[in-house]
Amino acid sequence: MQNVVVLGSTGSIGKSSIEVIKKNKDKFNIVCLVAKSNEELILDQSKRHKNSKIYLENPKRIKSSKKLIEKNELLELISSKDVDVVIAAISGSDGLELIHHSIKNGKKILIANKEPLVMAGAFLMNEARKSGAQIIPIDSEHCSIHQSIEGKTKDSISKITLTCSGGPFHKLSKSKFKTITSNNALQHPIWKMGKKITIDSATLMNKALEIIEAKHLFDLDQKKIEAIIHPEGLIHSLVEFNDGTVLASMALPDMKISVSYGLGFPKSIKNGVAKINFQELKNLSFKKIDRKKFPSIDFAYFALKYGKGMPIILNAANEVAVDLFLKNKISFLSIYDLISSTLNYADRSNMNLTSVSLSSIIKFNQEARDIALNYSSKFIK
Ligand code: NDP
Ligand code: MG
Repeated sequence: MQNVVVLGSTGSIGKSSIEVIKKNKDKFNIVCLVAKSNEELILDQSKRHKNSKIYLENPKRIKSSKKLIEKNELLELISSKDVDVVIAAISGSDGLELIHHSIKNGKKILIANKEPLVMAGAFLMNEARKSGAQIIPIDSEHCSIHQSIEGKTKDSISKITLTCSGGPFHKLSKSKFKTITSNNALQHPIWKMGKKITIDSATLMNKALEIIEAKHLFDLDQKKIEAIIHPEGLIHSLVEFNDGTVLASMALPDMKISVSYGLGFPKSIKNGVAKINFQELKNLSFKKIDRKKFPSIDFAYFALKYGKGMPIILNAANEVAVDLFLKNKISFLSIYDLISSTLNYADRSNMNLTSVSLSSIIKFNQEARDIALNYSSKFIK
């Protein structure tokens, strides 16, 4: 029996994780559920997982409960022998500290929460090498690449291609982008996800973050990482090897598949998801990303090439921009303008992350957020 902590249990990935664990009760036991403030749902989840503790970052009504633990108790629990697996499904940069703590303590960690990998990928991968932590990506594209390269050496890979559905606007002409509202952008054609990643999928910033995520997870040169639109959402990645062979990893678009892959690895376990019916399948198509329409992809390559903390700045500017867009304070196109202004400022003023530690990364992230917030006044409607 493996003991599991679910970080972000009340979110979209958290709920999928709990469903997969329910299907494999003989193998996994939830020992702690973690969320920000959704008390009703976390209490309901904890009733079904009788032995699990609860940690809330921002408790509102419940002040005490036998199950509710404090932050120091959560950190202690994760570092103890009572935890085997951590599922990292908090949204955004807020997840960094607990991912770092789980890795430092040598846990098996399933990472959906891509932003901390974008901010601190090289640092976290290095910490994992030191502690022996096992990192399994469960962001669907990276999870599928993990499967395709299993048993292969890194120098046999000539290219990896991350697919994306293209979001709701890849067919819309750029001249209409100024009319996009947050409600329009929250309608994702394929995946049902949290609000932040749904907006990132509409701007294609999700793919930009995933390019950086892939660089760190698989330690590949950025020239070997591409992204392409695949509207059917059935192929999650394409890995090309030196001999021209390409492994395309397919599955229905359901995050329970990635979660069950991570939990079961190296075995394949049940997840209750239907299988692809190839007899009924009509089309598998690809389309190049229009990088004038979606400047996000260029932002990612710029941040990677520049280094020196630029991915932290990119992620921070995007988080600030998405938050303002969701509050209807800036327009869809201003998301790109705000990111671009922040990146330009950081370049001009030669901002540089000089030391690499958890505290220096958190401090640098805060500085980057402040700069983006400052610029946002130019774009507020
Ligand atoms: P959601 O917004 O649906 O859920 C976020 C979860 O994190 C909630 O449980 C929320 O709690 C919790 N949370 C937020 N802030 C904190 C905090 N400071 N401390 C503790 N808990 C916190 O997000 P998703 O599940 O969609 O995404 C989670 C991560 O996984 C993101 O990084 C995303 O990019 C990545 N991902 C998601 C995919 C998807 O299909 N959804 C696919 C691939 C990757 P509360 O409910 O109380 O606010
Ligand atoms: Mg993804």
